Amino acid sequence: MSRKVLVLGEVRDGSLRNVSFEAIAAGKTVAEGGEVVGVLIGDSVQNLGKDMIQYGADRVVVVEDGNLKNYSSDGFSQAFLAVVHSENPDGIIFGHTALGKDLAPKIASKLDAGLISDATIVEAAGEHVVFTRPIYSGKAFEKKIITDGIIFATIRPNNISPLEKDESRTGDVQTIQAEIKDLRTIIKEVIRKASEGVDLSEAKVIVSGGRGVKSAEGFKSLKELADVLGGAVGASRGACDAGYCDYSLQIGQTGKVVTPDLYIACGISGAIQHLAGMSNSKVIVAINKDPEANIFNVADYGIVGDLFEVVPLLTEEFKKL
Ligand code: FAD
Repeated sequence: MSRKVLVLGEVRDGSLRNVSFEAIAAGKTVAEGGEVVGVLIGDSVQNLGKDMIQYGADRVVVVEDGNLKNYSSDGFSQAFLAVVHSENPDGIIFGHTALGKDLAPKIASKLDAGLISDATIVEAAGEHVVFTRPIYSGKAFEKKIITDGIIFATIRPNNISPLEKDESRTGDVQTIQAEIKDLRTIIKEVIRKASEGVDLSEAKVIVSGGRGVKSAEGFKSLKELADVLGGAVGASRGACDAGYCDYSLQIGQTGKVVTPDLYIACGISGAIQHLAGMSNSKVIVAINKDPEANIFNVADYGIVGDLFEVVPLLTEEFKKL
């Protein structure tokens, strides 16, 4: 059953986030041979249309406006709804990111559509598209379908493989006019906390520290290991509460949900609220001096030892590769 599917391209610092390409791949599955239309919203984003096409979108629709320079749910929903009304899609896919989590319910309510959030697997099964999503903090999975109206879903980053980039793919990048008006909030300036290195939510490798790291100073050796592996540093809430690192690094039920290829948990006990954010990582390595620590129950590899000895040793070994 072929469908037309809109996929939102999420732009950060002038580039598309990886989840946009994963959403295109999910959109292809939903489209079942139909058309995948990339959607770009912003101030000056048209140049990114070719990237969406090279990753598999058949064509791209762009909405540009000075008021769309920074994300606001008011502005972006008006822009996206303008595309929906001109394209009349059968499906919509967003990334399950901070932006997607804010925008998707608003769009769904305006369209009176259902919404399946945080899907990790998308399968087309004849008449229906089946979305699998983790529930109960990742302890179980449910499969869901939308039986009526637009098939609308958000997908968890790092779970659906994007298509290979192919520079020979071509397609139209078309700008449409949308009236962005009566905004209740306008973002005048975004002041970002300086953060270096790889984006935590899209990192393939995460070296994460808990209360066992004992100080902000202790996190330096985790950063060194993360740098050698081309990864990012994360943390448990225990470490954030203790002031060892910023809350933007917190992983878990009330922090970020991550699915890297490799998650190295250092001095983290493995509380259920922490597992909710990382237990779907592809390979989990736990370093803890307590052999009874709960983190070992989800770990693929466990190292019972002092992280202040083990982490520098790992860094030295990885440097040799
Ligand atoms: P601890 O539980 O104190 O564990 C420290 C570990 O370090 C121990 O296992 C110890 O054996 C080990 N250790 C100590 N020294 C060393 C050493 N030298 N070498 C090796 N190992 C060592 N937590 C989150 O992480 N994310 C969340 O999003 C989150 N949300 C929450 C939401 C709610 C509503 C509540 C109630 C709690 C939430 N928590 C969350 C908190 C959670 O319950 C735990 O308190 C927290 O995860 C514990 O952090 P920790 O593992 O770093 O610390």
